[in-house]
Amino acid sequence: MKLILATGNPGKAAEIALLLGDVPDLRLEPRSPALPEPEEDGDTLLDNARIKAQAVIDATGEPAVADDTGLEVLALGGAPGVHTARYAGPGASYGDNMARLLAELGDEADRRATWRTVALARWPDGTELWTEGTCDGTITRAPIGDHGFGYDPVFIPAEGDGRTYAQMTRDEKNAVSHRGRAFRALAMRLAQ
Ligand code: IMP
Repeated sequence: MKLILATGNPGKAAEIALLLGDVPDLRLEPRSPALPEPEEDGDTLLDNARIKAQAVIDATGEPAVADDTGLEVLALGGAPGVHTARYAGPGASYGDNMARLLAELGDEADRRATWRTVALARWPDGTELWTEGTCDGTITRAPIGDHGFGYDPVFIPAEGDGRTYAQMTRDEKNAVSHRGRAFRALAMRLAQ
C-alpha cells in the first residue's frame, strides 16, 4: 500500500514517518514540493485534513495521508482551535503565534489546554479512515526548549515530567502527543 504524505512540513513528516513505520507493506512517499498548498478553510479539523488529502489526490491520483491539528485553550474558550496555524495572521511565524498566545493568556492562572489531531488516510474513490488523538497539558509563561516545531516551547504535557514538548526528544514527545496518539490509532486501522 502506498500513501503520499500531504504535509510539506519536515518536522511533521519525520514524526508521521516514525509513527506509521510499523504498518506492514506501507510505503510512505513525500509530497512533491511542486504541489500547490490548498486553502485550509474548513470549519473543523476533519474538514481540513480531508481538504489536504484531497488536494494531493487531485494532483497525483494516488491515496494520501493528512492531518490537521488545533490547540484548544480553556481560558480562551477553545481558541485558537481550527485557527491555530494562522493565529497571529496569515503568514505568521511560529514565534508570532506563540507570542500572540502568551499575550492573549497574559497573567491568567488557568493555563490548561488540549492539543487535538485528526489523522486521515483517503483514497481516490473517496474511501477514508480517520482517527483522533488528544493531549492535555498547560501553557507556559514563556517559551522553553528548542526541539520540535510550532508551539512546542510553550506546551507542557500533563503526562510528562514538567518539561515542554520542545525539551523532549522526538520519541518522548511521540509517546504522549496528540499526533502520536492519532497516528498510532491510524496505524492500527491501516494494519487491519
Ligand atoms: P497543522 O494542522 O498540523 O498544520 O497544525 C496547525 C498549527 O498547530 C500549526 O501552527 C502548527 O505549527 C501547530 N502544531 C501542530 N502540531 C504541533 C505540535 O506537535 N507541536 C507544536 N505545534 C504544533
